[in-house]
Amino acid sequence: MIPEIDVRTLTARKISEGTLAFSFEPEADLLEIPYVQFEGAVKAELTYRIFEDDSVEVVGRIFFALSGSCSRCLKETRKELTGEVDGFFLPGESDGENYGYVGGKISLSELMRDSLMFALPSRLLCDACTQWENE
Ligand SMILES: [Zn+2]
Repeated sequence: MIPEIDVRTLTARKISEGTLAFSFEPEADLLEIPYVQFEGAVKAELTYRIFEDDSVEVVGRIFFALSGSCSRCLKETRKELTGEVDGFFLPGESDGENYGYVGGKISLSELMRDSLMFALPSRLLCDACTQWENE
C-alpha cells in the first residue's frame, strides 16, 4: 500500500521531515521484457522534507526483484535491483517538471510508478550471460 504524506497535518504539528518505509504491488504492465515478471512487492525507503513554502522533497530508494527467462540464453534467472527516488512536489497543479499536490496531501503513487519505470532494465540477463557481456 502506498501511503500519503499529509503535509497539512505535519506542518500543523511543526514536523518538517520524516521517513517512510512501505511496500507495494508493482503494475505488471510496466515491465516489457518478454517472459520476465516482478517477484513479489516493491519495497520503498523514503525521506521527505517539507519546506517553508509547502514544497516537499521526497528522496530515497526502491528495491525489487525480477525473475524469468534470461533475455539472451532463456535460462531461468532472477535479479535484485535498486532504483533511486527523487521527486519534488509543489502545492497546486504539476508544472510539468515537478509533481503537484492538492488538498494538503501528497499521493506518492505517481512518483513510485515513475521511479520504478526508470529503474527497470531493458532486459534480464543470467549470471553467465552478464559475465559473458562484460568480458
Ligand atoms: Zn543467460
